[in-house]
Amino acid sequence: TDVPTVTLNNGVEIPQLGFGVFQIKPDDARDTVLSALEVGYRHIDTAQMYRNEKQVGEAVRDSGIDRSEIFVTSKLNNGVHTAEETLEAFETSLDTLGFDYLDLFLVHWPMPETRNYVEVWRAFEDIYRSGRARAIGVSNFTEHHLRRLHTETTVVPAVNQVELHPYLAQDALRAFDSEHGIATEAWSPIGQGTVLGDPVLVRVASEHDRTPAQVVLRWHLQRGDIVFPKSVTRARIEENFALFDFELSAEDMAAVSALDKGGRIGPHPEDVN
Ligand code: NAD
Repeated sequence: TDVPTVTLNNGVEIPQLGFGVFQIKPDDARDTVLSALEVGYRHIDTAQMYRNEKQVGEAVRDSGIDRSEIFVTSKLNNGVHTAEETLEAFETSLDTLGFDYLDLFLVHWPMPETRNYVEVWRAFEDIYRSGRARAIGVSNFTEHHLRRLHTETTVVPAVNQVELHPYLAQDALRAFDSEHGIATEAWSPIGQGTVLGDPVLVRVASEHDRTPAQVVLRWHLQRGDIVFPKSVTRARIEENFALFDFELSAEDMAAVSALDKGGRIGPHPEDVN
């Protein structure tokens, strides 16, 4: 299967469908990521906070697939506050993964009360200029945080990774991102499973002879967002990748979009500090 790519604002291409490894235990992470690579995923989303970077790196090496064919993202831990600590933490990520570069490095949360994220972002710019991250971006940034980066720094984030699923469609933030050349990545794209019993999704799925998870992921892809659903179950890892032989109609898309009720699973970014 050829997964479509999204071209980031610096020309780097990211596979639009990847595999997320949040809450995959370190002991399971190598084998689970190997399964995902076998199924065909070529984009892995990890973070320092997930404590499985080491196993992600092992899986990439043990897969026998060329490193250059796999897009790997990691994210800066929340406990890191200064530019110097940021540079050190980036080195630690590379060491832990066993890589000499990352495809994408993200500021995991802005931490607006306890951290000067502008200073952190300037360190990210240095990392980017060193060539050891092919792209840099942010996660859980609101318009307000992005505006501040825009005013005070040089490199526009390549992506903004935010909570986004049918119950939290993030239309305003997506529009803001796209006006500024920032690609939107959707975390918890199936709402950690919580949206899958929705009657509208169940109906659309049965009309296409698909599962609700496949309908939701297809909705994301057709809107243009980047997704990386997580599962440790081989059958679901396959199911979540089987998205390229059907299409939602304009009516289906509208029906899923109408489920938006501003319902978050995770915290509001202003509240994480
Ligand atoms: P998700 O929306 O991908 O849901 C995963 C859960 O849904 C699984 O644990 C399983 O219980 C269920 N599931 C998966 N496939 C299924 C299927 N086909 N049918 C039925 N149930 C299924 O949730 P997530 O893991 O929170 O989000 C995906 C990725 O996003 C994470 O792994 C991580 O990489 C990223 N993420 C980032 C942040 C951030 O702050 N930047 C926060 C959360 C998640």
